[in-house]
Amino acid sequence: MKWEDNVRKVVPYVAGEQPNKENMIKLNTNECPYPPAPGVVEAASKMDCDELRLYPNSEVAPLVQALAEYYHVKPSQVFVGVGSDDVLAMAFLTFFNGKEPILFPDVTYSFYDVWADLYRIPYKTCALDENWHINPEDYKQPNGGVIFPNPNAPTGLLENLSVVEEIIQANRDVVVIVDEAYIDFGGESALPLLEKYDNLLIVQTFSKSRAMAGLRIGFCIGNEKLIQYLNDAKFSFNSYTMNLPSQLLGVEAVKDDAYFKDITAKIQKTRERVKKELAELGFTFPDSKANFIFVSHKSVPAKEIYQALREQDIYVRFWDKERINNCLRITIGTDEQMDCLIDFLKKYLQKV
Ligand SMILES: *Cc1c(COP(=O)(O)O)cnc(C)c1O
Repeated sequence: MKWEDNVRKVVPYVAGEQPNKENMIKLNTNECPYPPAPGVVEAASKMDCDELRLYPNSEVAPLVQALAEYYHVKPSQVFVGVGSDDVLAMAFLTFFNGKEPILFPDVTYSFYDVWADLYRIPYKTCALDENWHINPEDYKQPNGGVIFPNPNAPTGLLENLSVVEEIIQANRDVVVIVDEAYIDFGGESALPLLEKYDNLLIVQTFSKSRAMAGLRIGFCIGNEKLIQYLNDAKFSFNSYTMNLPSQLLGVEAVKDDAYFKDITAKIQKTRERVKKELAELGFTFPDSKANFIFVSHKSVPAKEIYQALREQDIYVRFWDKERINNCLRITIGTDEQMDCLIDFLKKYLQKV
């Protein structure tokens, strides 16, 4: 069919499966195993539905204000989107318009190449080293922009702020996006670098550390000018992106800092304990600072373990992709969930 010549063809991103089985243990999409903050739950139960007649605040002003206060920046430095995927997609559209390829790691969040393809942005990947670390030297070649997660996904490895700064410093003429989806699980944010670098954009999300993946809230913080350009693109696309309930409940989540610190600390504690147990079972992994661990077993192929777990309704993430096809990404769940996982692995690995 001739019309197909003019279709924008893309190979879409594939998210982790979302099965809905009773008693399943879902450790495949890095969701939080704990409920949202009590203030969020209460506000949700008291929501005034009459307001749903009206369009929501297109600037998401109350949430922008709450985030600006929390992170000690100006409201004009904050942009909010429908999940950080929306923020990232908007940032790719707005900032990556050069002729040179944008740069990102070869093993990283697999949405980056999808957006690049969608928007026809040329890109080049830089190989992580044999220990899964980013080599900052790779980011000192001509480029149209840089993006990487810190901690990286799916490796979980955190780069020191000095490495992050080295990359930003070497790329003053393009926008550098640091995707901090997992920064709240023990990492050091690049936020203090904003004072020095007007080309830095930091993206974060409520989906992992704030237990609100279902509400779709993400945001970024950067120089006022970057944020202005993002808003210009957003208001040329769809003004009312974030629904009213998400706006209201997002504010409630930011208010409850004690709960946020409590659940992120709990997940880190579970993570460190699970690391020890997995190591005893013959797994190796980079030293994750995220809410997941990226493991390989010394003798049993990842795909076999993945399938054996799946039969027990324990879901972890496996990619049949070059370089990472002997690895599993296991989300940190509750202590009880991780006990079930470890108990099963102990029995299973004895048999194989
Ligand atoms: C989960 C994730 C996101 C997107 O999360 P949202 O739910 O869209 O906020 C972005 N970047 C990385 C690296 C992620 O793992």
